[in-house]
Amino acid sequence: MRKVLIANRGEIASRIIKTCHSLGIETVAVYSDADKDLPYVKHASKSYRIGEPPVMKSYLQVNKILEVAIQEKVDAIHPGYGFLSENSDFAKAVENHKIIFIGPNPDIISLMGDKVKARKTMIDAGVPVVPGSQNGIPSIDEACELAERIGYPVMLKASGGGGGIGMQCCYNEDDLQKAFQSTKARAKMYFGNDDVFIEKYISNARHIEVQIFGDMEGNIVHLYERDCSIQRRNQKVIEETPSPFISTKTRDKICEAAKRAAQFVNYTNAGTIEFIVDEEENFYFLEMNTRLQVEHPITEMTTNIDLVKWQLLVARGERLPLKQDEINATGHAIEFRLYAEDPVSFLPSPGKIEKFSYCDENQYVRIDSGYEEGSTVTPFYDPMIAKIIVKGKTRNESIQLSKQFLNEFEVKGIKTNIPLFLKTLNDESFLRGDYSTGFLANK
Ligand code: ADP
Ligand code: ADP
Ligand code: MG
Repeated sequence: MRKVLIANRGEIASRIIKTCHSLGIETVAVYSDADKDLPYVKHASKSYRIGEPPVMKSYLQVNKILEVAIQEKVDAIHPGYGFLSENSDFAKAVENHKIIFIGPNPDIISLMGDKVKARKTMIDAGVPVVPGSQNGIPSIDEACELAERIGYPVMLKASGGGGGIGMQCCYNEDDLQKAFQSTKARAKMYFGNDDVFIEKYISNARHIEVQIFGDMEGNIVHLYERDCSIQRRNQKVIEETPSPFISTKTRDKICEAAKRAAQFVNYTNAGTIEFIVDEEENFYFLEMNTRLQVEHPITEMTTNIDLVKWQLLVARGERLPLKQDEINATGHAIEFRLYAEDPVSFLPSPGKIEKFSYCDENQYVRIDSGYEEGSTVTPFYDPMIAKIIVKGKTRNESIQLSKQFLNEFEVKGIKTNIPLFLKTLNDESFLRGDYSTGFLANK
C-alpha cells in the first residue's frame, strides 16, 4: 500500500494523513471550494478539488472521488467517519475498481447500517438487545399496540438513522401518534428510507461502547470501552475511558459481548459496538458503527495503539499486531468535541478563527484539529472543528489537566463550547462520575 486517498475532510483527514506519512504512505486529499485553505489540504502529498461546498456536490460525489483515485492510481481509500464511510455502495464501487476500501466488507456495512437487521443479527449472536420490535413498523396502529406491550416510554427510531437524527422518545400514546408520521418523514428525508421501529426507552441510561478490531484471518480483539454519556440531542459531546460507572465484572461482560457480536459476523477492520446501559448495569446492544469512531483517540491514549495504523495493516491483509492478552489500557482519557457554536443557543457559529492558541501538545494533551488560526469555519459542514484529548494517570488527574488546558485555550472570531466543558468539569455529579445521557439537557 503506497498511496491512500482520504474521502473526507477536516480533522479526521489530517489524522489519517499523519499515520499514513509516518508509515511512508503517500496521501491524496479531496476538498470542496469551502475547504481549499484548510490544513489537511496542505498536509496531504497531493490534493484535488472535487466540487462546490454542499456535500451533495463534493464529499458525497462518489464518481468524482473515484475519478481522482483512478487518476492517482491509489491503492486504497480511507473513508474516515460520516459522509461515505457507511455507504456500502461506495465500498463496493471502490472494490470493483480493484482499490482497497479501508473498512469491513460491504455486506457487513449494509447489514449493520440497517438497525432492524442489526438487532436481529445480535439476537442470533446471543447479545442482549434493547427490548423492542423485531421488524419495521408499517402502521401507527401496530406502533401503538407494540408500545403498549413494551411499556412506555418508548423510543421511535429510523432504521437507517445516524448522528442522533430521526429518533423520538414517546412517553404515551399521544406522543407516539404525534411522532409517527414526522419521524417517518425525517427518516425519508435524511436517510432515503422511511422504515421506523420501536425500542424501550432506557431511563437514566449510560452510553457505553466497545472498540473492536478484526483481521482477515478471523482474529477479533476488543480495545476496551468508552463512556459517551455526555450528550446533547443524542449526540456525543464528551467521552471518557475507562467508564467511571461500570464494575470490573460488567466491563468484562460487555467487552466479551462486543467480541461475540463481531465474531458472529466475521468482522474485519475497526468497529464499535454501542450499548445502552441501565442503572443496574444491564447492557443492551444499540447499534454497530462499521468505521473509525470520532472518539477513537481516547482509546489510543490509554492503549498506546494507533488505530489508523491497525486499519491500514488489516486492510492490506496483515494479522492484528497484538493478541487480546497483550492489549492493556492504562490511565484515564477524556475527549472534548470542540464545536464552533454559540454556548447559549447551541446554534453554529461560523466565521474566521482570528485566534487559536493553546499550549503545546505533550504526553497529556493531544489536539486533533481540522482548522488553524486564520482558517474560516463555513456553514456547510458539521460544526465540530477540533477534538481535545487529555490523559492523566487517574480520572481526577485528567479532569484537573483538562481544566488547566481549557482555561488557557484561546479562541477568537468564533464562539465555542469551551464554557460548557468548564461547567461540566466543575459539576459535582460529573466529578463523582454520576451522570446519564440526560446530563446536559438537565443543566
Ligand atoms: P445514532 O445512530 O444516531 O448514533 P443510536 O441508536 O446510537 O443512534 O442512539 C444515539 C443516542 O440516543 C444514544 O447514545 C442514547 O443516548 C440515545 N438512545 C438511543 N436509543 C435509546 C434507548 N432505547 N433508550 C435510551 N436512550 C436511547
Ligand atoms: P460517532 O458515533 O463516531 O461518535 P457521530 O455520529 O457522533 O459519530 O459523528 C459522526 C458525524 O460527524 C457525522 O454524522 C457527520 O455529521 C460528522 N462528520 C463527518 N465527517 C466529519 C469531519 N470530517 N469533521 C467533522 N465532522 C464530521
Ligand atoms: Mg450511535
